[in-house]
Amino acid sequence: MAAKILDGDALRRTRTAALAAAVQAFATRHGVAPCLAAILVGDDPASHSYVRSKARDAGRIGIRSETFHLAAATPTAELLALIDELNGRPDVHGILQQVPLPPQIDAEAVFERIDPDKDVDGLTPANLGRLLRGRAGLVPCTPLGVLALIDAAGVDIAGSDAVVIGRSTLVGKPTALLLLQRHATVTLCHSRTADLAHHVRRADIVVSAVGQARLIRREMVKPGAVVIDVGVSRVNGAVVGDVDFDGVREVAGAITPMPGGTGPMTRAMLLENTVAAARRQLEERS
Ligand code: NAP
Repeated sequence: MAAKILDGDALRRTRTAALAAAVQAFATRHGVAPCLAAILVGDDPASHSYVRSKARDAGRIGIRSETFHLAAATPTAELLALIDELNGRPDVHGILQQVPLPPQIDAEAVFERIDPDKDVDGLTPANLGRLLRGRAGLVPCTPLGVLALIDAAGVDIAGSDAVVIGRSTLVGKPTALLLLQRHATVTLCHSRTADLAHHVRRADIVVSAVGQARLIRREMVKPGAVVIDVGVSRVNGAVVGDVDFDGVREVAGAITPMPGGTGPMTRAMLLENTVAAARRQLEERS
């Protein structure tokens, strides 16, 4: 039987519609809309396009957004001064630092400076520490989206064998921690893993976040497994994931398409984090 397709676009629409109602209720209660500030350094066209679409997504459900565009040669101190200003503004609830940053910028210093309660990407040391310690905080968007897609597959995460491929701070490591919090037995694979197929073959849940086309093939996947594809690469101009979709869908129990799977959910989770941050500041801090 062919796998259930985990439609990230449809799930994003459902969750975003529910969030729009929450945004409206928030604005009525507080007299201000949740507000997301995006910082962009330099002229990378892809980064510009990402920030534009994040702002458009926010605007569609009543979240206000402001974009701050700094020159490519901006020194770290100037960026830190802007972050301090945004940290101090009560009308700004979320701060998004678009990456990659130019080489002269001390990225660690930047992420350490963002107020953890405004850190809608969940990448500050404070929020990553909270995740590690199992405490409430803002969690990185892609891993949150991955968990929502696994839940949409209707499987029991507790007690399952989960394999995460990729160990970045942005995706792999926080995804592994979230699965661990939900009581999966987690194996974290990476470029030095000796026999990737051996680990993937026994997994009930596979999350691949590498960026290498056709890394996960049909013969590597346990029948009935849930397969979540995060990786993005281009083959002959087309966007593809890490998973050989056509082959793997024949054996998997559920699978995300690429595009249309994890990408839309990352966008949705950024909006959810922005509303969570606004609530935290106006309803939980005082
Ligand atoms: P990253 O920092 O480059 O990490 C890639 C990871 O893959 C590393 O841990 C690397 O291992 C591992 N790896 C490389 N080759 C491997 C192999 N042959 N077998 C097993 N593991 C291997 O990338 P990232 O930021 O985590 O992003 C991963 C992918 O997801 C990229 O394609 C990115 O574009 C995509 N992405 C998608 C979304 C979305 O919403 N869909 C969001 C964010 C990122 P080492 O640590 O040993 O080098």
